[in-house]
Amino acid sequence: MKITGVRATPVYVPMHHPLRWSFGVEPGLTRVIVELLTDEGLVGLGESNGGRDLAAAVLESQPLYFGLDPLEAGRIAKRFAIYRLTSEQGARALQFKMAGAAIEMACWDLVGKSLGKRCGDLWGGIEKEEVEVAAYVFYRYESMAEEGNYSDPAYVSEYALELMEVHGFRDVKLKAGVLDPIQEIDTVRRIRESAGSRLRNLRVDPNQAWSVETSIRTLRRLDPYDIEFCEDPTWGIEGMGLVRRDTHIPLATNMCCVSFEQIPLVVRARALDIILGDIHFWGGPTALLQLAKVCETFNLGMSLHSDRELGISTAALVHLAAAQPMISHAIDSHLPEQSGDVITQPFKFRQGKLSVPSGPGLGVELDRDHLDHYNRLYLERSERDEFQDEKRSSWRAYLPLW
Ligand code: MG
Repeated sequence: MKITGVRATPVYVPMHHPLRWSFGVEPGLTRVIVELLTDEGLVGLGESNGGRDLAAAVLESQPLYFGLDPLEAGRIAKRFAIYRLTSEQGARALQFKMAGAAIEMACWDLVGKSLGKRCGDLWGGIEKEEVEVAAYVFYRYESMAEEGNYSDPAYVSEYALELMEVHGFRDVKLKAGVLDPIQEIDTVRRIRESAGSRLRNLRVDPNQAWSVETSIRTLRRLDPYDIEFCEDPTWGIEGMGLVRRDTHIPLATNMCCVSFEQIPLVVRARALDIILGDIHFWGGPTALLQLAKVCETFNLGMSLHSDRELGISTAALVHLAAAQPMISHAIDSHLPEQSGDVITQPFKFRQGKLSVPSGPGLGVELDRDHLDHYNRLYLERSERDEFQDEKRSSWRAYLPLW
């Protein structure tokens, strides 16, 4: 089998309600859906995080994968691994790394389809048919026009309960770094008190919004609420190390350690307890499997980061988590906030879990009508990143925010 063609389609999918985070607002998600075509008629599906620059990188990087046998997914991963964040290549490195993630994902989909094997069985062997996911609770706006009460601690804690009831989640992650830390501590208290024993693990993620000092004070105040981990309380490896010295709440990251070259630094600085691997910006499934071994070596915990994936990348994450025992914390997912998908049978939560698809490869199929619809939405709007908040025109995300 040979790779003979590629399609890269940018899509935009709106959120039900815009999600707030420390650096701005996310009204939706922009992704590129990759279809790898082969001389045998099989089509492999991939997805990555970005818009037209990423789609261009998928096409420009054809010399790395055109004409190759997709069964050599490892060779393709190795070729894309030359793009490193600390190299001199800047933006090109990141786009090509993200492109490689989608292309490698599509190769594994082809490997599975060609051999009649599920990706998880190719990635170490599926050990469980269902994967635990944490409810992802955000301060939100009702819409980009109306704020509503969607960011009130009382409302947000009720919404956390609603997510637990509707989808069966046992774990909750509160996206923090949006309100004054005192109000966010109040939100945590409300969630813990109202959920009671139904809530197992509670994690918070201020996305680097707090200074080292604010992080230490806030984590001390959060201590009574049995926090599973705090993700990126403050900026940078050094800052994380300083906070970690003064808290026993475990620290996690998907921000200060996003590539292999940063791992020696975080280990020496004793800056981290848990790494949340992102399938796109770590570079694809092979990179996350390698990351799992590195985490095991250094006794770091591991989970999987969500950056608003659609069904193709979600399938890849579910296969990975089902096959890789190092991924021992419930994984993240934005799916309940997203208004649509590009696959024919969108994932549904059962008792807070996602099932590993039963078909070969990633086990999901592209819904071409939905792909066209969300591609039109993408084309209708100019690209907007999430590092802004139009509702607060004079506000800027300077660090530290608190
Ligand atoms: Mg995070």
